[in-house]
This record gives sequence, C-alpha cells and structure tokens, in this order.
Amino acid sequence: MTTASTIGTPEAARGLTSTDAMQRLAISGPNALPKTTPPTLLARVAKQLVNPLSVILLVAGFITIVVLRRSGEGASILVIVVINTAMAVGQERAANDAMAALEQLVAPTSKVWRDGLVQEILAEGLVADDLIELAAGDRVPADARVAQSSLMAVDEAMLTGESLPVDKIAQDQVFAGTLVVRGSGQGVVTATGAATKLGQIATAMEKPTDPPLVRQLSVNAAQVSVLAIVVGVLVGIGTYLRSAGQQQRTAEAVLTGVALAIAAIPEGLSSVVLSALALGTRRMAKRGVIVRRLPAIEALGSTSVLCADKTGTITSGHLEVVDLLVQPGLDEEFWTAVTRANDAVGGIGDPLDIALLDAVPAPHRATVAAQVGERIDSRPFSAETRSMSTIHESRGTAHLSVKGAPESILSRCATAPDVTRLSQAVEALAGRGLRVLAVADATTDDLDAGLRPLGLVAFGDPLRPSAIGAVADCRRAGIRVVMVTGDHATTAGAVAEAVGILDGPAQPHEVIDGAALATMTPEAAAAALLQASVVARVEPNVKTALVDAHRARGAIVAMTGDGVNDAPALRRADVGVAIAGSGGTDVARRAASIIVTDGDLGTIAAGVAEGRRIARNLGNVVRYLLTGNLTEVLVVTGALVVLPDLRTPLLPAQLLWINLITDGLPGLALGTDEPVGDPLADPPRPRSDHLLNRTRLLGMVFDALVITAIGLGASWWTDTRWGWTPSVVRSSLLLTLIACHLLLAYVARARHFAFEPAWWRAKPMLASIVGSILLQVVAYTTPTGRELLGLSAVPPVAWLIAGGAAISMVGVLDVRSAVLRRHGG
Ligand code: ADP
Ligand code: MG
Repeated sequence: MTTASTIGTPEAARGLTSTDAMQRLAISGPNALPKTTPPTLLARVAKQLVNPLSVILLVAGFITIVVLRRSGEGASILVIVVINTAMAVGQERAANDAMAALEQLVAPTSKVWRDGLVQEILAEGLVADDLIELAAGDRVPADARVAQSSLMAVDEAMLTGESLPVDKIAQDQVFAGTLVVRGSGQGVVTATGAATKLGQIATAMEKPTDPPLVRQLSVNAAQVSVLAIVVGVLVGIGTYLRSAGQQQRTAEAVLTGVALAIAAIPEGLSSVVLSALALGTRRMAKRGVIVRRLPAIEALGSTSVLCADKTGTITSGHLEVVDLLVQPGLDEEFWTAVTRANDAVGGIGDPLDIALLDAVPAPHRATVAAQVGERIDSRPFSAETRSMSTIHESRGTAHLSVKGAPESILSRCATAPDVTRLSQAVEALAGRGLRVLAVADATTDDLDAGLRPLGLVAFGDPLRPSAIGAVADCRRAGIRVVMVTGDHATTAGAVAEAVGILDGPAQPHEVIDGAALATMTPEAAAAALLQASVVARVEPNVKTALVDAHRARGAIVAMTGDGVNDAPALRRADVGVAIAGSGGTDVARRAASIIVTDGDLGTIAAGVAEGRRIARNLGNVVRYLLTGNLTEVLVVTGALVVLPDLRTPLLPAQLLWINLITDGLPGLALGTDEPVGDPLADPPRPRSDHLLNRTRLLGMVFDALVITAIGLGASWWTDTRWGWTPSVVRSSLLLTLIACHLLLAYVARARHFAFEPAWWRAKPMLASIVGSILLQVVAYTTPTGRELLGLSAVPPVAWLIAGGAAISMVGVLDVRSAVLRRHGG
C-alpha cells in the first residue's frame, strides 16, 4: 500500500510529452490564480483626490479665486494639489510595482515528468494529467490524485483549518496550496489554476496590511495633524482680530488658518516611508535578498544575533566524498547499500545522495547495478532519525540498507570491536571538518532491525568563498553569529573555527550538542544555548529554543532555515530567513519573512547592511519632514507676535510651496539616500529604540525652534530696522525658511556634521538641493512665479540673509549634536 517503486527509471516513458502539455496549456490557461486587476490610473487619482486634505485644498483654492479674487495665488493652490496628487500616485505605483516584481522572483516551481524525464518547471506551466513529484517541504502545485505514496502526509490547514497532517496514500486527493510535511510521492494533476479547490475559495484573499512602522507613523502624523489644526484655528482667530477694519477679513482669516493646518499636516510622511521601504526591497532583491514582509527590513537591520545553518549557508553545500573506511572484504556490499539507500535520480536530489552515487567506483558499477533489485519499502531521511533506510527485494531476499549519522547507525550494530574502531575513526574524520556518514545493512524486511556495519564515508564541504568575510562583517557590526547544524559537534567546531566564528579551537562551552541539551532542564538548556556559538546535532525543537533563549534576553534574532522542520523557528525569529534554490522547501519559504536566493551568509550580511541603511534613511526622512512641519507651525504662530504688521505671516500658497519643495525633492532623496559612513560600523539598534522616541521628538522640537528663531529674527530686523514693506518682509521670510529647510536635509542625514567630508558625493541629494534652489530663483525672478506665490521682488541682500541664516542654522545644530554625543545622546 505505501509501496514506493524505484522512482524515476528514466527509460520508462511516464507523464505527458511536452508537445501534449503545451497544447493543453493553451486550452486550460496557466496554473495560477486569477490576478486581481490593479486599479486604473484614474481610480488611483480619484482615491488621492477624495482624501479630506485634497478636498479642503481644492475648496481653499476656489475661495481664493472667487471670494478674494486673487486668481494667481488661487491657481497655484490648485496646481499644488495636482502636483501633490501626482507625487502620491507615482509613489504608490512605484511601491506596488516593487512588490509585484518581488512576487515574480519567488514564483513556485514544480517537479514534473515530461517526455519521460523529471523536470523542474514553473508551477504555472502544469496541466491536467501531468505526473508530478511531491516531497516533504513542497507546496502542492495543483489539485492531484496521489499515484504513489511513501509515508506522505500533507498539512491542509490552509483549506480545512485542521492543523494535524493528513496521511495520503495512493488514490487520495491532494489540493493545491497545501504543504507536504512528510514522506514523498507522485500525483496526477486533476485540476489547475482557478479550477482547484484553492482557486474556488481564493476569491476573498486577505488584504495586505501596512507594516507596523508605517502604522506607528500614521499615528504620529495624526498627532501632529491635531496640533496643526488647533494651531490653525488659533492663528485664524488671531488673523481675524488683527485685521479689524480690513476688507474680506473673514475669508482671509479662514484661509490662513486652513493653509497653516494643511501645510503643517505631514500628509506625505507615510507615503514617503512606504515608498522608501518598497524601493529598499528592490535594492535588496538585486542583492539576492527577497523581502516577503516589509517590517522584516527594519528587523534585519537591527539583528543582533544571527543563527545560520552550516551546510549551504556557511559551507557551499557541494559535497564531495574525500575519505572512505570500508570494512575489509565488504566493498561490494558497501556500494550496494549506498546505492540502495539513495533517493537521487539522474543528478536531481539531495547533494549528499548525488555525491554518493558519483563516488561508486567504476569497477563496482556493473555488479552493484545487477544486485540492487526492486525497492519495496523505505523510510526517507529525517532530521529526527538522521538516517535513511530502504528495503529492497533482490533474488527473492529482502535487504535492509541504511545510511546516516554514525551515532544513530553504530548504536544499532552488535559487532563491538568494529564499532569501537569505527567510532574512533569518526572522531578523527570529524576533527578535520568532514561530514561523516555510516553505512550498514541487514538481511531482513524490518526497517528497525539490528545492523551490520559496512563502513564510513567522509564528505568535504568547502567554505563558501564569502563566508569568512561575512562572519567578519557581522562581528564588526556587533552581530553574534551562531552556527546551527545537524552535523556532528566535532565537524561543526572545526568548520566554525575555520570560518572565524570561533577564535581558536572549540572550547567546551562554545559548542553544544543536541544530545547534551536533551538531558538538561529547560533553564540550563537556555543558559547553555546563550553561551554557545555552535549548536550541533540539533533536533528541530532546538532551533526554536535557541531563538527563544536569545529573544528572552532582548536580542533581535535572525534565523536561517530551509527544511520543513525549520518552519516553527523561522516563524518565531524576528527575521526568518529561508534559503531558496535547491534544497529549500516551500514550507520554510512561507514561514520566513525574508528569502535569500543563494543561501549565502555573505548575501545575508549584505542584507543586514541594506536593512540598516534603509532604517537610517527612514529615520532621517521622518526627522526632516516632521521638523519642517513643526517649523511652519512655530513660524506662523510666532510671526503673529513678532511681526504684527504682516497680518498674514505667510500666504496659503506660500506655505504649500514650502511643503511641496521639502516633501518633494529632498524628502525623496533622503528616503533613498546612500549611507553616510559604514552601516556596519555601529552596534545594532536595540529593540526599544523606536523611530520616534522622546529624544528624537525633543530633538525635532529643538531644531524647529532654532529655525524659527533665526527666520523670525532676520525678518524682525529687516522689518523694524530697514523698514521693508510687509510684502517684501514676507517674501524674504519665505526665502529664508526654504534655505534653512534645504540645508536641514543635510543635517538630518548627518552622522556627525552636516557637511562631512565628501558630502557632495551623494548625487541625488545634491541634485535635489540644486534643483530646489533653481526653483526658488525662477519663482522669485519671474513675474509669473511672483504672481503665483504672491511674492514681491526682494533686494539682493535678502538672498544673502537667507544663505546666512541657513548656514548659521547648520552651525547651531552641529554644535547641538556634538554636545549630545558628548553626553551619550
Ligand atoms: P545540516 O544542518 O548540516 O544540514 P542535516 O540535518 O542535513 O545537517 O544532517 C544531519 C546529519 O544527518 C548529517 O551529519 C548526516 O550524518 C546525516 N544525513 C544528512 N543527510 C543525509 C541523507 N540524505 N541520508 C542519510 N543521512 C543523512
Ligand atoms: Mg541539511
């Protein structure tokens, strides 16, 4: 019943031919769920326009034109609405495109028989009657009838809610989207795409929600908005009282209040943040790091403990047999057992299995092939048993063949002297960093029978070229690297030393193995795990315990994994990193928040650097935009007191202009900025360090006060001492504020001083500043520009005042950060 035949005798023409499959595909369509059509451009624009802010702005624009009869200014308010809308639509689109491109990169594949051979194709290409291979870790790509099963069990929770795996034997039905968690088998596709059970219920897919960071920022933005509205109302009342006896005082007061509120509301914040995150995912993808959940970017950048698999992540995973120890006179039996207890077919399968088949010496090949016989039962390799067994029938006799970790095999062998000799050999081989496997057999059809040892195979698995550098990078970045492996402790210790995780030969507390952990109390085990840099012979639950132990101490933990058993730990870690590519399973991929396409530790380290860069950029943007909004509120309120002749300190169109300039070019440039200095040079940010903690908020208030003082001070001087007309004072104040805002962008991104060496190298930043300055020049020197913004021509000295004010602001803020640093701020 659970019989597995020799999977994949290539000469047996099975499955469909590729021509047949192509014709069927043309009729049935791709095996994919119907995509939800993206909203049209018009729908996106409409969505932006109906938000309350745009509506208020539109109304304000019409009041300005119709009631106040200031058509130039009114038109500019309307133009600004258009530009704002275009920017928001563009950013949203860029974000969506980036996410869609990522989904493409992780498109599922499937092993299918075509033209009599197993091929790995995109699951989209499956058609009804295709013969597919299923193995533990796979996501079932289409509805199928099981043709053959070897202890196969499937997790159908996503369809039925039932979390216990369901055994699947021949003739059972398996469903698209469910996960094979145990065993393996073959199935014949019965339905694809929308016709599958999943397709029928998938109409109401869950809607993606915003990442917590963005949600938190929305809350903060809302708080600033409330402040802005309150101040807006007060300023409106103030303006009204001040302009007693003037015409249209009511309309003007309302408009000023509204404009202030709007200018001060950081409406661009969450969209800038979202698009910075989305663009960050694109950069990460270029480095082979695919982000499945946006918040993981931030967590990856803050990682303080990185638990990495040895095989495939630190080592290349390309195994090669480098040493053998075969029991005298048992060569033939040894190679026969190696060939029987093996799942590789035609170069596809576990690298270890492939390496073993490749190692069969030429003189033995023919005899071994003649002896193998028919597989009648098997127990696939699992991390629990650390071995793989098969029963073959050959010339009327049943043969049990087993290969696996030496401890699990040798403990089942009775011949004591041999066992002792082999155990010593295992230690010697493992000390060289080799992965050692024992091979044994018995003449029986009982999978659990006692065994006869046949010998040992030792595999070399070279370090990945990037691994040593990556470990050094991580350590420099204050990240603790812990190597996790199912391999032998001695092997693992030797590899850890070679790669630089350990500084010298392994000390006892640095290497812990699963067997030792199993004998400890949970507390003692947690303490041992915290000390260890190498965790060997891990049972699946050890990875979870490791994550928990470090998280309990406040660490931000990243954990790599590829197998079915890794899924719980991947889910539990702050950043679950799944390894794609060969050996990676769909189960792990779905549990992870990040997928690394090549499984390389170097790629993960690059991802950490990228995550830090993005987190820092977000902090900079938030600081920059919120400081700007606060400044506007403070300046307008303060001007009512300091500059009473101005009546309206800044006109609505002028306030919106500041917003547009700052949110626009420099805000975007900051969101995608190049890192200042080495992102890996700092220790990881602790879990408690929020983007908007009290220190940061106070810092923003301070910065805003400085700009306000400088701007209003200069205006007060020109107003009272030089007797400039109110309109010229106002135009000069606007110029000064914009100059300060532009240089504030450099303050916001600075690590030490706003203009540290090579500040001009960040080209997008520089371009955005130069572009903004040019826009000012155009606005101030052309009649149209002046009319649109309600400006007067300013004397040349106003430009000097603006530049001088901006430079003194940089001076004050640089001194402030130097003082804060001295006091550990
Ligand atoms: P790792 O964490 O290094 O990938 P694994 O869990 O894959 O380790 O393997 C653990 C141990 O199980 C190995 O040291 C080896 O002894 C044994 N083993 C690995 N793969 C197989 C296999 N295909 N068949 C039998 N035994 C295996
Ligand atoms: Mg492995």
